[in-house]
Amino acid sequence: MIHIKSPEEIEEFRRCDALSKEALRLAGSLVRPGVSTKEIDAAVEAFIRLHGGTPAFKGLYGFPGSICASVNEEIVHGIPSPMRFLNEGDVISIDTGATVDGWVGDNAWTFYVGEVSDEVKGLCECTRDCLKVAIEQAKPGNHLGDIGYAVQHLAESNGYGVVREYVGHGVGRVMHEDPNVPNYGKRGRGVKLQVGMTIAIEPMITLGTYKNHTLANGWTVVTNDGLPAAHYENSVAITKDGPVILTADDQGPWCNMQGGE
Ligand code: MG
Repeated sequence: MIHIKSPEEIEEFRRCDALSKEALRLAGSLVRPGVSTKEIDAAVEAFIRLHGGTPAFKGLYGFPGSICASVNEEIVHGIPSPMRFLNEGDVISIDTGATVDGWVGDNAWTFYVGEVSDEVKGLCECTRDCLKVAIEQAKPGNHLGDIGYAVQHLAESNGYGVVREYVGHGVGRVMHEDPNVPNYGKRGRGVKLQVGMTIAIEPMITLGTYKNHTLANGWTVVTNDGLPAAHYENSVAITKDGPVILTADDQGPWCNMQGGE
């Protein structure tokens, strides 16, 4: 069931979503060679709790971390570990969920660890562009297929892969609401977008094959060819005036961060 939010609810959601973004900004500031993904996780959890929120991922479906920390060939759902240290040239997708006053903020960004190769930079830049063109399609009267098509067309025309098994989603009072928001599709198909819908759009794009599998830990999704993936996510409200990025602030319409100008 799709939950339609009033303009007042969207405003409340926007204020709460800011904590998830600020947590993500903090996470990004900690990314450097030699840091462990658990250190970032612990700092983010403390930050969210200090500001009156709870980490939305911790315990969700049994997930052990407060963030998802997915390095290089890991696409999503990387488990933070005290044994996983970042190396120069890695990329890490960090996904931060925070619940505040009953609203769940959900945002992700792929950060560069030091200098990354031009090939990986190209992948990340294209994935950010995918998020941008997807958000532009999130307006009343369009369909979910318009969002999916925009991502798929841009990614594939640049020679990248589009992950099929993991998708964006409705978001609001719970982390995963209806509808699913795939990163592939046909224009004009799927659920019609209405004023008051709030959705998390999150392209997951790969340098090589989009085919993937889950590691033995039951969580971490990796590319079958071991080549890197990129992942960016923002929550967006569909309003009569078009898409409103819930994390937008005076620093930009969406999270502008290291590795993300
Ligand atoms: Mg999400």
